[in-house]
Amino acid sequence: MSKHAGAVSQLVDRLSQLPGIGRKSAERLAFHLLRVREEDALALADAIRRVRTDVRYCAACYNLSEHELCQICSDPKRDATRLCVVEQPRDLLSLEASGAYQGLYHVLLGRIAPLDGITPDQLTIDALVDRVREGNFVEIIMATNPTVEGDGTSLYLSNQLSEFPIQITRLARGITAGSVLEYANREIIADALTGRQKL
Ligand SMILES: [Zn+2]
Repeated sequence: MSKHAGAVSQLVDRLSQLPGIGRKSAERLAFHLLRVREEDALALADAIRRVRTDVRYCAACYNLSEHELCQICSDPKRDATRLCVVEQPRDLLSLEASGAYQGLYHVLLGRIAPLDGITPDQLTIDALVDRVREGNFVEIIMATNPTVEGDGTSLYLSNQLSEFPIQITRLARGITAGSVLEYANREIIADALTGRQKL
């Protein structure tokens, strides 16, 4: 039997399923939500609802988007001859924050990780190959994370793309091996982009 009333205990249960939130923190958050103004608590519920009903993957690059095409894909000022391949939408955000890149992106939605059962067919690799076949790209920049799995993924991709007469590069190793794009600061990312090397 839970010590809280039904609705409260349900909220605590839900919150404690979130990553990094233990039972104690979940209780603290639940009581916090009971104390703040009703409209503030409901705004949080609303934001969760909106992110799940309005946000989807861009039909071209698999970035998060509220429309068929994301802001980047629908921006005519972007350089449509360069394509930067990243693992996750949050990696794309890190590269965008650096302000050093004007091309397009392709989000894999993961990386090849045989030990975790993640195989190439579970990523957006087929869509990437189709895009490269149909597009006018002169350069594909591999910006997977500098980890064993990230490197393996970019190697696999460069083999898949080797039939096309396109330069394949990767980010310079300013980002220490093992660290992830998401946590690198924007100067490091800008340097990594400027100093990119042939793969
Ligand atoms: Zn897009």
